[in-house]
Amino acid sequence: MVKKVDTVVLDTLKERLKEIFGYSQFRGEQEIIIQNILLGKNTFVIMPTGAGKSLCYQLPALVSDGLTIVISPLIALMKNQVDQLTAFGINAQFLNSTLTKGEMTRVKNDALDGILKLLYIAPESLTKEDNLDFLKKAKISFVAIDEAHCISEWGHDFRPEYRRIYGIIENIGNLPIIALTATATPKVQQDIRKNLQMEEAETFKSSFNRKNLYYEIRPKKDTKKQLIRYVRNNKGKSGIVYCLSRKTVEEVAELLSVNDVRALPYHAGLDSNTRMANQDAFLNEECDVIVATIAFGMGIDKPDVRFVIHYDVPKSLEGYYQETGRAGRDGLEGNCLMFYSYDDIQKLEKFNKDKTVTERDNARHLLNEMVAYSTLGVCRRRQLLSYFGEYLDKDCGFCDNCVKPTEKSKVQDEVVLILNAVYQTEQRFDGEHIADLITATDNQYVKSYEHDKLDVYGKGLELNESKDFWISAIRQLVILNYLEKDVENYGVVKISEKGRAYLNDPYPVTLQKDHNFEEEEVKAEDEEKEAGTGSAHAYDEALLGMLKALRKKVAKEKNLPPFVIFQDPSLEEMATTYPTTQQEMAQINGVGMGKVQKFGRQFIDLITRYVEENEIETAKDVVIKSTVNKSKIKIYIIQQVDRKVSLDEIAEVKNLALSEIIEEVEHICYSGTKLNLDYYINQVIDRDRQQDIYDYFMTAETDNIAAALNEFSDDEIPEEELRLVRIKFLSELAN
Ligand code: ADP
Ligand code: MG
Ligand code: ZN
Repeated sequence: MVKKVDTVVLDTLKERLKEIFGYSQFRGEQEIIIQNILLGKNTFVIMPTGAGKSLCYQLPALVSDGLTIVISPLIALMKNQVDQLTAFGINAQFLNSTLTKGEMTRVKNDALDGILKLLYIAPESLTKEDNLDFLKKAKISFVAIDEAHCISEWGHDFRPEYRRIYGIIENIGNLPIIALTATATPKVQQDIRKNLQMEEAETFKSSFNRKNLYYEIRPKKDTKKQLIRYVRNNKGKSGIVYCLSRKTVEEVAELLSVNDVRALPYHAGLDSNTRMANQDAFLNEECDVIVATIAFGMGIDKPDVRFVIHYDVPKSLEGYYQETGRAGRDGLEGNCLMFYSYDDIQKLEKFNKDKTVTERDNARHLLNEMVAYSTLGVCRRRQLLSYFGEYLDKDCGFCDNCVKPTEKSKVQDEVVLILNAVYQTEQRFDGEHIADLITATDNQYVKSYEHDKLDVYGKGLELNESKDFWISAIRQLVILNYLEKDVENYGVVKISEKGRAYLNDPYPVTLQKDHNFEEEEVKAEDEEKEAGTGSAHAYDEALLGMLKALRKKVAKEKNLPPFVIFQDPSLEEMATTYPTTQQEMAQINGVGMGKVQKFGRQFIDLITRYVEENEIETAKDVVIKSTVNKSKIKIYIIQQVDRKVSLDEIAEVKNLALSEIIEEVEHICYSGTKLNLDYYINQVIDRDRQQDIYDYFMTAETDNIAAALNEFSDDEIPEEELRLVRIKFLSELAN
């Protein structure tokens, strides 16, 4: 059912993106997804929270003829979505049971008149008779099904009414469907395709890696004190604290409040008015921290949540990943902290005692994964991605296990033994059984399968007597991809291709010791400050503060959440490039002409005044005069440097040479922006040498690089090092 689309439409998507949404680049596969649905093909999108799924149906809706139907599970959040679209100058409405009859008629008339581009509908409204008649009359371009995992009983949020969607779409007409979700287990995917009868649909699955999130687990000791300290260190930032029970939610919210944190509770036991009011207060920044049960959060797209804390251990890694995923959706700072204690696991296990045997088994498996994730010393990101079927080939450098590693050891005989044991038992057993076998611990199967006759039986005892060691080692080999999990049978491990190659040609493999949270000390206060992503910023903090205050004021006047006006990254960019005309303002990422016209005036006035009063000339001249792309890369560099990303990595991502990145950094510095590169310089240049070069610039007549090269010609110091130290020198002394 390939539809004819004007190729001009497909070719100009990027321009429309800039014009309407103010973004200069598509993220990930957004563009090809959009092309796919515009060609009238069914489309299946699996992307983690915050990756930008909404745009995948919003943009095609705007360039298509007719109306796009968006099915979304939560009535409470439709208004939020519609507000955001309206702020961009887009004609969108919702249809649900909160509307009066009059409002409903108006929405429907707008739709039939072709004024409306997007209509959000709850699945239960979709099935209503008179809505069905209306939908049949409307000219519909395609249907978007958001949070599509609600279709599957195997997902973590099954909604029976979602199963009826397909029947209705079929009834309305033969419409292309785009289904979107952040839940990616293979089983749920299969259910969605079957139910929507789109087995042929092209699937776009993007990486689940959320690079800006910092993962951290601490022992659950002195938790209240730790929590207060953490939240205080993040004063003024938005955060979510998840607790298991309503009672704990109330207690913790109270605790934070009496400690001068603007915190509110949210759980299903509160009456719906209070719940809504608290949620709104959080969205509108009248409260900084929401303390909640997992009832809070699905579909919430507040982009600037800076931390998510799990006060109690969650029931599954799926839940943990969804919840932590709510931090840093705008790509800026996002810290994920969990307090872990085995007591919590036992508590959760008790909750399961009334369940059926299979349910209890499943729940226990999920909990086991949670325990493993918490206690393994391996890079958290590698563990999480491995769990969702993705393989990361090196440590991320940006999680607690990377920053402060547990003891490491190199092993080879142990790895060979494990792989042999898996091989000799025909790749049909789980890690526990393999560990039993290696340590000659008899379980019910060792004898019955005659595994005690194998030559690996008990062989491990010579290497390490602890069964826990072997269990951990097997788990680590899965994450390192020497072993792989069997998709059909829970827990069963098989030898991967890499593992097979390893057996032919073994080499030492680094394993990490598990955490022992019982023994681990609570973090000292001074360490706390260095943790996470907090750092000095490169933007103009004074101006940013003023812009945020103005945003809040405007938001209040318009009765909208502040991030609907402008998001944090846009304000940070404004506080870096000082736009003072409409054209310049429209260049800011996330600000299209629509927003400039709606909200721009006051912000431009504020910046103009600020620039005049503070006589800011240099930065503006250099940054704004350069081409759009040039200034984009500068912003990107400034943001990455803020996050302490190494320049080599920035160069790699941007596909530029390191020298080109250094050149950009020089431009940034010469235009008066302070950049702190110490984290990188300390890593690549030895301290004594830094001092020598620094001292040279201190007394030199000129900061000319050729002159410096000449001075250091005997020491053969590379030009790049000289330039890096010059940047440091200029930043510290001149800016
Ligand atoms: P989700 O995939 O969880 O539904 P959203 O659609 O809510 O994510 O998008 C998350 C954030 O990403 C939003 O703040 C949105 O404005 C931003 N975003 C989406 N696409 C782009 C893009 N191409 N460039 C920059 N920001 C984008
Ligand atoms: Mg979404
Ligand atoms: Zn890591």
